[in-house]
Amino acid sequence: MKDFIVAIDGPAGSGKSSISDIVSKKLGFTHVDTGAFFRAITLEALRRGINLENEDEYSFLDEINVIYKEGKTYLNDEDVSGLIRTPEISNNVSVPAKLKRVRERVIDFERLSSKGKIIMDGRDIGTVVLPNADLKIFLTASNEERARRRFEQNKLLGIESDYNTILKEIIERDKKDSERAIAPLKQAIDAIPIDTTKMSIDEVSNMIISLINERNE
Ligand code: C5P
Repeated sequence: MKDFIVAIDGPAGSGKSSISDIVSKKLGFTHVDTGAFFRAITLEALRRGINLENEDEYSFLDEINVIYKEGKTYLNDEDVSGLIRTPEISNNVSVPAKLKRVRERVIDFERLSSKGKIIMDGRDIGTVVLPNADLKIFLTASNEERARRRFEQNKLLGIESDYNTILKEIIERDKKDSERAIAPLKQAIDAIPIDTTKMSIDEVSNMIISLINERNE
């Protein structure tokens, strides 16, 4: 298969990352989870104790590099894959993610990894980052189902959590991500919407694989 770019966007817990991972492994694509870049920046910002709302305090962005490779996230060579999935990061990440300075730096990280056969997932991939993608998908699922998935994921990661708190938190995060001024979470006009509420991960993955194969004929 020649170069082919897939953009997958959607709200928290819609399955973007797991599905992108499965599809990319099956088809030999490189998966780029762009949420990981924002999470790693949030981790660094919290470690430095800066005021997350204050754009002027993000000068450290020039000193850090974030790489997403084979399912792992590296912040200046440190494997932070586990550290960026905690509720503390999830509940704060929408603040840095609304800032122009942060988004511009993330575009640098994304550019470095957007060559060849790529599946990139995030919030603004089809609208801003890769507007010329060969295939754009917008994944959704009901709030309750997304909260249930996050709850199960946390359990697997050994993170204790409460379903109702997660439900409240993901609704809040989606609201912030959808209402921000720069690159909000939005379905691109040429994206194919898939409601995954009643679908298994395999069903969604197979549907996306068929769409890739169709477009690549
Ligand atoms: O996908 P994930 O839940 O890991 O994303 C974490 C956060 O990063 C999102 O809630 C959003 O604030 C931000 N994000 C973004 N644009 C992207 C990917 C993630 O603003 N393309």
